[in-house]
Amino acid sequence: MAKRYDVIVVGAGPAGFVAAKAAGENGLEVALLERKPDVTQLTRACAQTLVSMNEYIFDELCIYNARDKRISFPVNGFSFKYDGPYKNMYACHFYTPNGHIIELGDLKKQREKGNHGIVGVAFDKEILFRCLLEEVKACSVDVFPGINVSKVTRTTDGVKVEGSGREFEGTYLIAADGVNSRIAQVTGFNKDRTYYCNFYGLVYYMSGVEPPEPDVIIFTHVFVKGGAAMIFIMPRPTDGDYIVTGATVDSGVDLEAACDYFMKKEFCASWFKKAKKLRAFSATCNCYSPVISPYKDRILLAGDVGSTQELENTGAMISGWKAGQAATTAVQEENLGLEVTGISQYLDWWTKAYVNSYNHETYMKTWALTHILTTEEEISYAFGLIKETLRPCWNPYRSPLAQGLKKAMPTIQHERPEVLQKLGTMSLPLNKIFTEVTKLSKPIS
Ligand SMILES: Cc1cc2nc3c(=O)[nH]c(=O)nc-3n(C[C@H](O)[C@H](O)[C@H](O)COP(=O)(O)OP(=O)(O)OC[C@H]3O[C@@H](n4cnc5c(N)ncnc54)[C@H](O)[C@@H]3O)c2cc1C
Repeated sequence: MAKRYDVIVVGAGPAGFVAAKAAGENGLEVALLERKPDVTQLTRACAQTLVSMNEYIFDELCIYNARDKRISFPVNGFSFKYDGPYKNMYACHFYTPNGHIIELGDLKKQREKGNHGIVGVAFDKEILFRCLLEEVKACSVDVFPGINVSKVTRTTDGVKVEGSGREFEGTYLIAADGVNSRIAQVTGFNKDRTYYCNFYGLVYYMSGVEPPEPDVIIFTHVFVKGGAAMIFIMPRPTDGDYIVTGATVDSGVDLEAACDYFMKKEFCASWFKKAKKLRAFSATCNCYSPVISPYKDRILLAGDVGSTQELENTGAMISGWKAGQAATTAVQEENLGLEVTGISQYLDWWTKAYVNSYNHETYMKTWALTHILTTEEEISYAFGLIKETLRPCWNPYRSPLAQGLKKAMPTIQHERPEVLQKLGTMSLPLNKIFTEVTKLSKPIS
């Protein structure tokens, strides 16, 4: 007879690995199913940073303990080994398209604070996966690579999961199959969500890039044929290498062309004189409103599955941990004949730490800015008015740029009332701002 599991986790990304670790460490029988044939291989674009190292995120403080080579989460009380290379990042520099710099964090002061001045840490995700695989194996999780889950059915006392010609039965299922989750789709979690658009990302590993500061995250906007894109430069953890990312919600944008256009711009062309592209990854992500209640019929959603576009690596790990603990608590409560409370603890955390803390419309409006200010000149003008150093921040949900722009409003009203009028449309509901974009996109699963 096939082994019956307490918990089946689908998806060996940051959320799934950590969920499996949590349940495995509690002594549960855990299966981790992943469609990639090699679970340590990275196949999807990710800029590979730990975000928000200088503030709470999802009710947690993420720490990289370089001495003992561990990533740790003190509020939730878990950590795991990461013994790959890393690089501290101390500030973010937002460049307007014409090259004006807005500093998010005073770089000199942040560097002086050492480990306490970092806003993020660059890491190597394939090494992270290797470390997480060792972690789950150490707590007897059965790992099944090459299983592409296609069907989930409810049984009398659990769930049956099918894929790639195999069947698995368990008491609970944790769906950690990412932003385009097939499980969320086939089990009806997406029915009540608003679909906005797709998000497209292109990531290059590059050598020979020479930005002005080696330990800063750089980002800017470019306008090209078919729309606009945001470009990010972040250090890779290996010395001298960088990740260049192009990202857009405009399906008409050729991201490769957008990145190439950026690399030739006046203010940064010299950074790329000796640059070489080493490796490329892409991603297309469904952008829905969040799942409000990420549980039904013994299925818990973890990581990006229930989020708007992404929870970030940090959020995925935290939600994976929470989901693994919730499933464990529920299994134990059932075994002991107690009232089942484990799941509601997860739902409470999800509501408080994600749905109520991070307004998904505000987050998505970051990507809508270029639909409001529709030329490089307008963005350069409006953001060019921000002269002061803003708070150090690498939290995509809480960028201080909006605050900086608010202060510039009286000047914009006086000098360019037509730009202020356009900025006013930012207060419209997201589906209004994205009407045209939504028409051009279709969710993938
Ligand atoms: C361009 C880009 C840049 C980014 N940069 C950053 C960054 O710098 N910092 C940061 O914190 N976050 C970043 N992110 C977001 C980050 O990558 C995600 O939030 C994070 O990986 C989510 O983890 P997850 O485990 O929820 O999902 P995923 O990492 O997507 O993992 C899901 C796993 O499920 C597997 N799977 C999917 N379907 C099935 C199936 N049917 N059967 C079996 N297995 C399946 C997949 O193969 C995958 O391994 C970036 C994302 C993009 C697109």
